[in-house]
Amino acid sequence: SKKPSTPRSRSVPTSRKKSPSLSPNRPPTKKESLSSDTSDNSQDDSDKIDDSEALIASLRGVDPLAAKQILNEIIVHGDEVHWEDIAGLESAKNSLKETVVYPFLRPDLFSGLREPARGMLLFGPPGTGKTMLARAVATESKSTFFSISASSLTSKFLGESEKLVRALFQLAKKLAPAIIFVDEIDSLLSSRNQDGENESSRRIKNEFLVQWSDLTKAAAGKDSGEDLQRVLVLAATNLPWAIDEAARRRFVRRQYIPLPEEETRKAQLSKLLSYQNHTLSNEDFTALVKLTEGFSGSDITALAKDAAMGPLRQLGDKLLMTNKNEIRPVSLEDFKSSLNYIRPSVSKEGLLQFEEWAKLYGSSG
Ligand code: ADP
Repeated sequence: SKKPSTPRSRSVPTSRKKSPSLSPNRPPTKKESLSSDTSDNSQDDSDKIDDSEALIASLRGVDPLAAKQILNEIIVHGDEVHWEDIAGLESAKNSLKETVVYPFLRPDLFSGLREPARGMLLFGPPGTGKTMLARAVATESKSTFFSISASSLTSKFLGESEKLVRALFQLAKKLAPAIIFVDEIDSLLSSRNQDGENESSRRIKNEFLVQWSDLTKAAAGKDSGEDLQRVLVLAATNLPWAIDEAARRRFVRRQYIPLPEEETRKAQLSKLLSYQNHTLSNEDFTALVKLTEGFSGSDITALAKDAAMGPLRQLGDKLLMTNKNEIRPVSLEDFKSSLNYIRPSVSKEGLLQFEEWAKLYGSSG
């Protein structure tokens, strides 16, 4: 019987016991483990050091320090995001499944005309779940997840950034299936960089584009034995119009991630309140969903957090002497008072700009 190539364990050897705290683009995580799965607990630390050094040594033409930095800071371990954690965004999820997850899990089905894309862009207002989606894709496709924000690549690692870019792609090939997630891709691939405004940004951009096309060429050649079919650049931006045309075309799929619709806001609010003692009735929920029109996912999270503070805030200093079970539940009124100062972060005009760009350059569906 023909089985799909079993997703391999994605444990990545790393030489540091402490989880990386420098990953430029990573939100703080609840729990962090050295590796995202536990299948090789038996390995002790010295093995891991050997593994990661052997891995680095096996990369030709790659700066060992840059490679180490990637292993320690750019690869994300633990605290996985799954599809269910993300409210709504069904069409984006479907598109990501078809473009990345299925091809990564069933490479045998996705060859020839069905060859998977090498690049996908997620664009839309901030706080709508783009980063969450990227992390879910990595989890669901059992891929090594490299996460870096373009602005930190161009600022923080200045001078060394080209080496870092090279190491990033070489490691991704080695550790394939792999997702290279670049947040704020506009700052790396903006048309401005071409005008020689900033020589070093321009060089980083070129290196990125070269490495990225090598991926495509090498995959077409299929001669290296590496798992090149399964390395994808997944990028996110709030400023899609800043990306230059040539770079834009490389993203075969450009997926609009809009503000959450009613159903999505409802799902997110229910989820956020599911662990909280509250008095919201169905009608209250409906009212709240209406009141949060124009809110992004992160605005809604911020609102719910603030509303949840309502009952404590009311107690003032008495809070210190109050039993946990005497704290009153969160109510719609708490939300209403939080709504006085937690406002949508995206303006109507801002939104229109995204919709226009989506019409012009977005992938439909
Ligand atoms: P983006 O990358 O689009 O700026 P993120 O994925 O970083 O946005 O989302 C920021 C935060 O907002 C998340 O950590 C989450 O708490 C919340 N959030 C945004 N979109 C959603 C969603 N669709 N479902 C659940 N939570 C969301």
